[in-house]
Amino acid sequence: VDLIFKRDIKISSRMKKIYEGKAKITYAKSAHQVVAVYKDVDTAFNNLKKGSIKNKGVINNSISSYLFDLLNNCNIPTHFLKKINQKSQLLKKVDIIPIEVLVRNYFAGSLSKKFGVKEGTPLSDTLIEYCLKSDELGDPHISSEHILNIGLCSFDELELIDEYSLRINDILRGIFYSIGINLIDFKLEFGVCKKTKKVILADEISPDTCRLWDIKTNKKLDKDRFRRDLGNVEEAYQEVFERLNIK
Ligand code: UDP
Repeated sequence: VDLIFKRDIKISSRMKKIYEGKAKITYAKSAHQVVAVYKDVDTAFNNLKKGSIKNKGVINNSISSYLFDLLNNCNIPTHFLKKINQKSQLLKKVDIIPIEVLVRNYFAGSLSKKFGVKEGTPLSDTLIEYCLKSDELGDPHISSEHILNIGLCSFDELELIDEYSLRINDILRGIFYSIGINLIDFKLEFGVCKKTKKVILADEISPDTCRLWDIKTNKKLDKDRFRRDLGNVEEAYQEVFERLNIK
């Protein structure tokens, strides 16, 4: 892993860093392309909890690359072009729309807290919620009225975001169900492609951004193991990777 990481650093040292987030560093590749390098660091509760999960970068890069490739093949437009090496991906350059889209099939996390409903209780229909992407403000929940009134994106863009989010949910639920995992909820981010100006899926889909529960045992195979100090975080991420049978 050390060797791999050195090679990643060598590749990225020739490129200009555009942005360093909590989970990834983005480098400029060309006018319309960027390279994202996945980190092993994990954070939760708006950076209050920090830790390093062994091999997380390699595992999440593999899982996210696999799922984005699949979504591309299902005609969901995404920023993903290809996996470059163990920790890096080549991506289309986007302007991120500053919204986190939360897609939920079951009560969990903040929704369970808000309504006092037990985690794992099914929702009667898929629920979409939005948060403002702002660490400073603690990613507050916002409504579609807020989004449109404040102009975080246009009406047409929000319609597409909702449509894609529901289609992505259908695809991902099926995939995870087929490997004995319930997709409880997940977070998506969208961007406007620099080249085409179209809305496309961006960011990542991984155990960091999804709640994944084993169908039989309800064992958590996601970031809640880190958030809630449940232990065996790397093993859980590795299990998702292995069940997906990624080559
Ligand atoms: N999520 C995420 N990043 C965030 C907030 C949420 O990836 O900054 C994911 C989270 O892993 C879960 C879903 O979005 O799969 C719904 O999160 P919730 O609002 O319940 O978040 P919590 O408050 O429990 O972190």
